[in-house]
Amino acid sequence: MSTNANLAALVASALARDQHIPLFRLQDGATVSRGDLLARSNAIAGALRYAGVAPGDRVMVQAEKSVAAVALYLATLQLGAIYNPLNTAYTPAEVTYFLNDAEPKAVVAAGDRLAGIADLTRSSGATGLFSLDADGSGSLLQAAAAARPVDECVARSADDLAALAYTSGTTGRSKGAMLSHGNLSSNALTLIDLWQLLPGERLIHALPIYHVHGLFVALNTALLGGMTMLWMEKFEASRVLAALSQADVMMGVPTFYTRLLSEPSLDSERCRDMRLFVSGSAPLLPETHKDFKARTGHAILERYGMTETGMIASNPYSGERIAGTVGYPLTDVSVRVADTAGAALAHGEIGVVEVRGPNVFSGYWRMPEKTAEEVRDGGWFITGDQGVLADDGRLSLVGRAKDLIITGGLNVYPIEVEQALNALPGIGESAVIGVPHPDFGEAVVAIVTASGSASLIEASTIATLTETLAKFKCPKRVIVVAELPRNAMGKVTKAELRAALKGLFT
Ligand code: AMP
Repeated sequence: MSTNANLAALVASALARDQHIPLFRLQDGATVSRGDLLARSNAIAGALRYAGVAPGDRVMVQAEKSVAAVALYLATLQLGAIYNPLNTAYTPAEVTYFLNDAEPKAVVAAGDRLAGIADLTRSSGATGLFSLDADGSGSLLQAAAAARPVDECVARSADDLAALAYTSGTTGRSKGAMLSHGNLSSNALTLIDLWQLLPGERLIHALPIYHVHGLFVALNTALLGGMTMLWMEKFEASRVLAALSQADVMMGVPTFYTRLLSEPSLDSERCRDMRLFVSGSAPLLPETHKDFKARTGHAILERYGMTETGMIASNPYSGERIAGTVGYPLTDVSVRVADTAGAALAHGEIGVVEVRGPNVFSGYWRMPEKTAEEVRDGGWFITGDQGVLADDGRLSLVGRAKDLIITGGLNVYPIEVEQALNALPGIGESAVIGVPHPDFGEAVVAIVTASGSASLIEASTIATLTETLAKFKCPKRVIVVAELPRNAMGKVTKAELRAALKGLFT
């Protein structure tokens, strides 16, 4: 008999032993045990099944970080349905796109948003619309309390889909990366082994859970590894500092580390019991790595991955962690550096990083042409990141898919912001770039042509954009110029703008 590759079944068996052990330690000191989470997941699965969710259906979730949201994630997988998390910063206009694209069977959103999306949700085919509030109309938790719990996991093969994770598109349209049960479980098990994560270890979990880092790296490894999560709704340097003496491992984005470094009380004494600090999602500056080592004695372990592939490479646990490199390909992952035609390059040559392995996604949701453009015959996925392999196989990233901006660990494709700017009355042309920022790594900056008072234009443009774009995508500064710099081909020379504005925030 073949075994069930459903990730929820793997989690259930990992948590089945010693069910009283705390799985979450919450900010108010309360704990949620392994057994509690499994029971909550079973109850929510009952409510979702009652609402008509069947294997292969999408469950779209735009909810604040909570234990209930984790139970909902597992419940969705239990039913063989596809978990579709959305960034909580997305505006209703952005959510409309996702509803039409994913056509979910059930939607879970903040209670105050339910009324606004009810019609749209129904017209996109959903039969369930819920909040994660404890009560009130549409409460999934109340429906769960009334439903008959589901205590089994629908049989899934490793190739069946577990999640649909949207990633910003270079064309300005978000693409849904289809991730299978095998993608998620293979990646988590490989990381548990590589980073030597042990049952009972305590993980500081301060990442959002709508993104690959907090959901699939931190949460999946903690669930499958039987760790206890010190669960923080968001990153707050003072809270994390206070938790360091009760924790073993932290996973974070580079911004976490720069913020911790700006706390005078960060020192080696506070980090004495910590075993491992991991960083990823954006480049960790060698300077941050060095300063953190000097202050705490810990060499941050940097790893590299993306939505479509999960984790790809990691600095070694036992060997040397070299700042500015992302280490070696994971044991079951193949990495090559290739030219634009897909021919592998020799070590030492710079090219595009391509990846193959059980971690690589099954393609973009309902975008077969896009998938064909980015996955070569033979299964190599073209990451778009520029990199170079050293003779010993260590990977360094040297640049990324042209214009991508990474701000606070979140990706922003300039074209999407430029389109929004160009639609505003009074704005002529626009160019959006990333500018070094001490806190966010990079900040989104817009350069526009417009007539009138520059400071008024800046204030009104930022105010208007926040109505349609998620806050992290909105420019921190809007700079008015008479003309955008262009090359002989008429293309805006963003490199010139980046050079001119590189000191804007530093
Ligand atoms: P996402 O799909 O949001 O996880 O973003 C993936 C992108 O983040 C990658 O393609 C890289 O450009 C970037 N990224 C992730 N980890 C690192 C890292 N350690 N160093 C540099 N860039 C990274």
